[in-house]
Amino acid sequence: MKRWMKLMSMAIVAAFVVSALSACGNQASEGEGTLAKIKSRGKVIAGVKYDLNLFGLKDPATGKVQGLDIDIAKQIAKKVLGDEDAIEFMEVTSKTRIPMLKNGDIDFIIATMTITDERKKEIDFSDVYFTAGQSLLVPADSPINSIKDLTKDSKVLTAKGSTSAKNIRESAPDAQILEFENYAEAFTALKAKQGSALTTDNALLYGMAKQDNNFRVLDETFTEEPYGIGIRKGDTEFIKAVNDTLKELKENGEYEKMYEKWIGKKPN
Ligand code: GLU
Repeated sequence: MKRWMKLMSMAIVAAFVVSALSACGNQASEGEGTLAKIKSRGKVIAGVKYDLNLFGLKDPATGKVQGLDIDIAKQIAKKVLGDEDAIEFMEVTSKTRIPMLKNGDIDFIIATMTITDERKKEIDFSDVYFTAGQSLLVPADSPINSIKDLTKDSKVLTAKGSTSAKNIRESAPDAQILEFENYAEAFTALKAKQGSALTTDNALLYGMAKQDNNFRVLDETFTEEPYGIGIRKGDTEFIKAVNDTLKELKENGEYEKMYEKWIGKKPN
């Protein structure tokens, strides 16, 4: 009887160990299988902005999303599946992009996203594909010409989950900061005179000033914002495919063409 009980408990322990080990196995493969997932699905799912002119902007009339991020995303689809149209775009905001990547809603983030050490704790990044710097968008007749002109009476608008929201608190600690769900809402609020300035990356502010010439972008930038493509942690195979795509685009001159098309000048 005693022997029987000992055998039983050994079997239970063994079963427990096996199931614990296989659970670990599942977890590891979660961070590794993006390429395989894309191939079996037959399309890429890219998390992009829908409200940022020049990078990711959805035209409500045609339903099409366009911009530099979109063009690069299509080239990733071409690299992985041989077809630049084998891609679905899903809207992300600065606040939702990392959770959406982590829970598998999207294969990667290409959405004006700065590579930071804090974000690197949660996801991995590709090589840098664009470099911006934070600045301010103000009404054309505004007396604000520098971040130093912001006072405790200034209301500065920006988007939740962005580096812009974090940086402005450090660079203009007296100013009041109002955070919106996305940049479309922040820009609408600026137009409705709910703030004295909107802050984010200069490249994005130029896109807004192009949409409405009642606003101007300050020349001054007060941060450096290197953009990277966000990928689930540990997915080395997929990171390599993405970095190879960027490298090839730079080597064959396609990147320069895209950059010029959206940004209006050659990359430095
Ligand atoms: N590049 C900055 C960031 O990653 C601002 C633009 C954005 O919010 O996407 O937070």
